[in-house]
Amino acid sequence: MQAGQTRYPPTAGTAALRPAIADKAGVAAANVIVATGAKQVLADMFLATLNQGDEVIVPTPYWTSYSDIIALSGGEALLLRCGADAGFKMTPEQLEATITPRTRWVLLNSPSNPTGAVYTAKELAALGAVLARYPHVWIASDEIYDLICYAPFTSFCNACPDLADRTIIINGVSKAHAMTGWRIGWAIAPTELIQAMIAVQGQITSGACSISQAAALEAVTGDQSHITERLDAFRDRRDFVVDALNAIPGFTCSVPDGALYVFPSCEAVLGLRTPDGARLETDTDFCAYVIATTGLAIVPGRAFGLPGHFRLSYAYARASLEDGCARLTRAVQGLA
Ligand code: PLP
Repeated sequence: MQAGQTRYPPTAGTAALRPAIADKAGVAAANVIVATGAKQVLADMFLATLNQGDEVIVPTPYWTSYSDIIALSGGEALLLRCGADAGFKMTPEQLEATITPRTRWVLLNSPSNPTGAVYTAKELAALGAVLARYPHVWIASDEIYDLICYAPFTSFCNACPDLADRTIIINGVSKAHAMTGWRIGWAIAPTELIQAMIAVQGQITSGACSISQAAALEAVTGDQSHITERLDAFRDRRDFVVDALNAIPGFTCSVPDGALYVFPSCEAVLGLRTPDGARLETDTDFCAYVIATTGLAIVPGRAFGLPGHFRLSYAYARASLEDGCARLTRAVQGLA
């Protein structure tokens, strides 16, 4: 701010940040757009490309905002159920069976919010082999949790370089650098798509905040040692929470390979009664009961398109997690 970087920045990103992101990704600056968070990248992209009724394949459970951004852009989200039995991942057969002439995009998110599922290089290549047969379908890969991954991470563009001319990679500083409030995200894509997104963004925000872009430049180009330190801490917290949840009778929680969430089933408690005599019919009832009786906020699976589960974030201090898991255990013990 003191250096005067407080004027309108170029719509696609500052002269410093845009090429820095491009350099890291090994592409030209013209292949990059900086936006007000990854969320605005998604909005730019869908507003720029969807016509009324165009379809977007969304492996489900999915991050809540996807379906609403698609709907706001006039598109139709095709929610493809990928349950716990499938590791919460889409198979090539499922993908192929869902593609229609109206399919415009398939939207991948690995590591996933809410499940933490991570696609291997082989799994991405198998999806890519299907997509190679459908040139009208573009691929959006939301990789915002790439640096919060306990298994080897593969970017879709590395697994399927032949599809680069119809792939967009989405990322940002919110998660890896704990900069959620700075609101900086970006996309790497073919220039034609970037141009269309710049046209949308230019009329909606004029580009991302110049001050936040200066801060994001430091995050992207500066010392990265905090990433490893945080990853170790998150792994410990993940393991603690998974063990605590699996210790609750009837609960099953798989170990996620990435992101900051666990997505256990709560089907075992559905049908039980609360101390007040109310019957828990749905995951939403369960989450409402937990917050009302213990003050612990967990999110129903329904919000992510997969009822019968709930999402719990472990991006908290260890003491809070211990307290939270104890509250959850107490709440479940109160059911009959
Ligand atoms: N994509 C996923 C999968 C997310 O979980 C989130 C935030 O929760 C976002 C995108 C949005 O990120 P940003 O803060 O950069 O808008």
